[in-house]
Order: sequence, then structure tokens, then C-alpha cells
Amino acid sequence: MGDFKEHILFGLLTAAVLMYLFEEFIDITALEALSGALAVFIGSIMPDIDHKRSYVHRAVKSFTSISAGILTFLVAPLETHQRYIAGITVFLMVYSFFSRIKMKHRGFTHTLTFCIIATSVGIILSVTFLYTVIPGLALGVGILSHLLMDREFKF
Ligand SMILES: [Zn+2]
Repeated sequence: MGDFKEHILFGLLTAAVLMYLFEEFIDITALEALSGALAVFIGSIMPDIDHKRSYVHRAVKSFTSISAGILTFLVAPLETHQRYIAGITVFLMVYSFFSRIKMKHRGFTHTLTFCIIATSVGIILSVTFLYTVIPGLALGVGILSHLLMDREFKF
């Protein structure tokens, strides 16, 4: 298995090779190139979200719990000081939830099923918001490159 940096490098390399191979068929704009590169980056490290000690897992854990807390504070239909408490409660709940779930080492996020689902969601989102299929496909390329490097090809 590769580490964080290797997965990113391998993902970008895979994308570059694909771009080269399909050069004649794809004509992408600067926005597509930029969002595509970002999507490959995210996709190449996404599966390691299920590695407890991985950088990605910890980053997602902090990001998700902090966002959930802030969101609660912003939208909860309560008085200011209650919203403050609600925000902190949600933050702690999400954080401990993440710490508690027993995730199988190289479990679901290291399957082709996950790759297909994430790519489909990625394509829907990118078509909806950016009017292009490229970032969604790029996400799939990133995830696939990760599975390739980990040598995981189960469904
Ligand atoms: Zn992995």
C-alpha cells in the first residue's frame, strides 16, 4: 500500500497518462482541468478515510465535526446562547461518533462498489453545478488509481 503522498502522485500520474492517451477525444477548458485535477487529488486519497490513523481520516473527522457544529449554530431555530450549546453538543457527538465507529481496515471504501457509487455521485454533482462531466470522471480516476495501488479489486 502507498502512503498519502504516493497515492496523490500516483493518482495525478494516472490522470496524466489517461489525458495523454485520450488527447484526441477530449478538449477541456481551464476550469475543467483545474476542477478535474482537484477531483483526482480528492479521489486518490478518499478510500483511506477508513484507515483510523490515516491523515485523511483525521482530517475528515475534524472537518465534519467542526462543520456540523457551525452549521447547527447557524441554522438551529433557538436563542443565541442555546444555539451555542447546540453547536458544541453536535460537534462533540459527531466527533465521538467518528472515534467510535469500528471501521474495517480497507473495508467498503476500498471496493469497486464504492468507486462506482462515488463516481456516479461525483458526475451528478459536477454536471449539476459545473455543467461538465470531467470532475466527476476525474474523481473516479483518482479512486481507481488508489485501489490499483493498494491492489484491491473486490466488489
Ligand atoms: Zn488505501
